[in-house]
Amino acid sequence: MNTSKPIIAILGSLNVDLVTRTPRIPAAGETLEALSFNTGHGGKGANQAVACARLSRPSKSSATSSSSAQVDVRMIGAIGKDDAFGGPFLAALEADGLDVTRVRRLEGQKTGVAVITVEERTGENRIMFVPGANHSVPREPLLDGDEDVLVLQLETPLEVVFLNMQHAKEKGVDVVINPAPAVPLPDDVYAGLDHLIVNESEAALLSGKPAEEITPESDLSPVAAEFIEKGVKNVIITLGGAGVFYQTAARHEQSQSGSLIPAKKVKVVDTTAAGDTFVGAYAVAVAKSKASRATGTPFDIDSAIAFANKAAALTVQKNGAQDAIPWLHEVDDA
Ligand code: ATP
Repeated sequence: MNTSKPIIAILGSLNVDLVTRTPRIPAAGETLEALSFNTGHGGKGANQAVACARLSRPSKSSATSSSSAQVDVRMIGAIGKDDAFGGPFLAALEADGLDVTRVRRLEGQKTGVAVITVEERTGENRIMFVPGANHSVPREPLLDGDEDVLVLQLETPLEVVFLNMQHAKEKGVDVVINPAPAVPLPDDVYAGLDHLIVNESEAALLSGKPAEEITPESDLSPVAAEFIEKGVKNVIITLGGAGVFYQTAARHEQSQSGSLIPAKKVKVVDTTAAGDTFVGAYAVAVAKSKASRATGTPFDIDSAIAFANKAAALTVQKNGAQDAIPWLHEVDDA
């Protein structure tokens, strides 16, 4: 294990959002003047990486000073080499304090884009997602071996996710997986998995339970048990404004039920990136606990969830995706 600053690697997607707001959705063959156009950086991988970086650094002004960072955060993924989007994307991630040297710039490939049309009147969006370079992340081990935590989602090829997850488990790296967008997963993914973070619909799809049984009012212990019996150590089910349900293998073995931790009561502006902020914050707490775990102090999942709930509650109070992810001082001040 690394003896100095903990290291988190995030292996995942990097997408550029191209967002047009329109008075209405144009018909086939029609040209319509739009109200506005904006670009933004996204992708679950990049969002969670930004959350890890910001939530382990006091503020934007000290983002690139390695002495004030509590955790080293590495992004692993792929973007286009020669397109207009790749360079500015990496520069923005670096400005947040991320190490982007493991993001491959692939010749002849385009950076992933999401072309989003938002109809102003209804707020409804239509999204065309072009994965581009995200689908060409090399099918090979991508970890250096000195990481403390690996964070994964499912917007890069499953083969890459599984291979690197296996590699991490063998090296004793803690794995945090947020299996979104959810697809049924083979049982061996769950064997020896440290942290599974799912929302309600992902919990339903992956456990095979009916969606109407996954609510804040239901007893979610049987759902968590499905995963724990396959080998997961900590199961976290996020429930939007209702908060988080969690269960651990240790408590399950002692026949204790899981716990519901309420979300912060806040005025919601836009919930985009709430889930990604939660995952990033939780991963930071896991990374920071690693040194003390080596000396026998157990992982405090309640504190990790409290920190993640607090960070995600700040995200929902702001518009946008990455723009809404807070820095550490904002969580401390909240
Ligand atoms: P998204 O896809 O919108 O980013 P998600 O579906 O992955 O999110 P949610 O369960 O909706 O995840 O939310 C994740 C966490 O964000 C919640 O567990 C909670 O901590 C916080 N959160 C979400 N909505 C609210 C809210 N209305 N008020 C306070 N906190 C919230």
